[in-house]
Amino acid sequence: QKCLNRIKKTRNLNAYITVTEEQAVEQARAADERFQRGAPKGPLDGIPIAVKDNFCTENTETTCASKMLKGYRPPFNATVVQKLLDQGAVLLGKTNLDEFAMGSGSTDGAFGPVRNPWSYSAPYRDRGGADPDSDWVITGGSSGGSAAAVASLSSFLALGSDTGGSTRNPAAHCGLVGLKPTYGLVSRHGFIPLVNSMDVPGIMTRSVHDAATVLGVLQGQDAKDSTTIRHPEENFHLPDDIDVRDLRVGIPKEYHAPGLSRETLAQWSRVADVLERAGARVVTVSLPHTQHSIVCYHVLCAAEVASNMARFDGLQYGHRSVEDSSTDALYAATRHEGFNQVVRGRILSGNYFLLRRNYQQYFVKAQQVRRLIADDFAQVFSAGVDLLLTPTTLSDAPSHAHFIQEDNRTRSMQEDVFTQPVNMAGLPAVTVPMALSGRGLPISLQLIGPALQDRKLLTVAGWLE
Ligand code: GLN
Repeated sequence: QKCLNRIKKTRNLNAYITVTEEQAVEQARAADERFQRGAPKGPLDGIPIAVKDNFCTENTETTCASKMLKGYRPPFNATVVQKLLDQGAVLLGKTNLDEFAMGSGSTDGAFGPVRNPWSYSAPYRDRGGADPDSDWVITGGSSGGSAAAVASLSSFLALGSDTGGSTRNPAAHCGLVGLKPTYGLVSRHGFIPLVNSMDVPGIMTRSVHDAATVLGVLQGQDAKDSTTIRHPEENFHLPDDIDVRDLRVGIPKEYHAPGLSRETLAQWSRVADVLERAGARVVTVSLPHTQHSIVCYHVLCAAEVASNMARFDGLQYGHRSVEDSSTDALYAATRHEGFNQVVRGRILSGNYFLLRRNYQQYFVKAQQVRRLIADDFAQVFSAGVDLLLTPTTLSDAPSHAHFIQEDNRTRSMQEDVFTQPVNMAGLPAVTVPMALSGRGLPISLQLIGPALQDRKLLTVAGWLE
C-alpha cells in the first residue's frame, strides 16, 4: 500500500504507464497469508516490483510506449515476469520508456518523457539545479520509467531491457545498480524484441546483493527461447567479503572518449586507485575496434528493427488506421500513425542496409566488425584480465532542455559509447553508483566481465559498492 501511495505521490515523474493496483493488492494479500502461515515462497515473496512496458504481461496492457500497441493485452506473461510472479513478487505496474526501447533519454515515448527523481532532490536543488517546473534532469534510457520507479522508492526492483545500454544508462543516471546479464543467461520470451541478437532483460535495484538475488530467480534455460543456456552454477549468492588481491582489473584506453566529463574521469581514476591500494593489479588494456562499435551497432540495430517491426501491420496487434482503400494503404497509414519518427527512421535505414545492393557493404561488414569487437574483449580476458572498469556514461544526467536540443541520432550515439560494445559481444556488465557530481547528481562506473562470469562481476561490484 505504501508503494502504491508513493506511485500516486510521484505521478509527476511519469514513471508508470499502467498501474495494476487491484491485482497488486490481491497479490500482496496472498503473500501476507503465506507469511502468516510461515510458508513464504522465497526471497522475493511479497516484494513490490515494476516491469518495463516492453515485457508482455498477461491481460495487462503492454504498449512499448507506442501508439501502435495501445490497448494490446497479451494472452501470456514473459518468462521473466512469470518467474517473478511465481516467487510471489507483487507487480505494481508497467513502466515508461522510449518508444520500442529506441533511445537513451526516456524522452521519446508516446506517453511523454520521464523525469529523474534527482531533479527534486536536496543535493541537486541546493547546488543551483533548475526549478522542476521549468526544466528537469532526464533519467537516461530507454528504461527510464523503471529507474525512476526504483529511485523514487515506489518499487524495490524493476525489470529493464538492455540492447545497447538501456538498463545501465538510466540506472547510472538515477544512482542505481543496473545489471545486464550475459546474453542467453536470461530468457527473452515475451520481451518484445528490438535487436534479437543483443537484447537482454536487465535488472535495476538499489544494491548489488539485490541484483544478485533477482538474477538467481530469472536465470535459466527456457524451452521458449532457444538462445538460452544452462549456467553451470545455480547459486548467485554473493560472499559478504572478498579479497581483491588476486584480481586483475583492465582499464581500456579507448574508453577515454571525447566528451567524457572531468568529474567522471576523476571517479574512474579514484576507483582504480582504491582497487590498486587494496592489492588488485590494475593494468591498461586495449580494445582497438571500440571506435567502430557504435556505427556498427546502429547498422545492425536498424537491420533487425526493420525485420522485427514488420509484424506491426494494423491487422494483428493494436492500432489500425481507418484508411482502408487497399491493404497496402492500410499498412502504410497504420505504420505512419502508429510509430514515432525514431522508429520509422530505423525501419527505413534498416531496409536500406538490407537491400541486395547494400547488404554486403553494410550488414555483412558490420557483422564482421562485430566479431572483431567481441574478439578484442576475448583477447583481453584470455590474457589474464578478470574484468574491466569503465565509466557507464559520459557525464552525469543532462537536463531535458539540453538533451532534446541535439539531433536524436547523434545524441543516442554519444550516450551509448561505453555500453553498446558489451551487447555486441554478449558479455555481462553492471553499473554501480560511485559519487555525486558537482551538480549533486549520481556518477556511476561500469564493470564488464567475461561471458557467464556474472557472479564474479557482481561480487566485485558488491565490494566497490
Ligand atoms: N540507445 C540505444 C538505442 O537507441 C540502446 C537502446 C536499448 O538498449 N534498448 O538503440
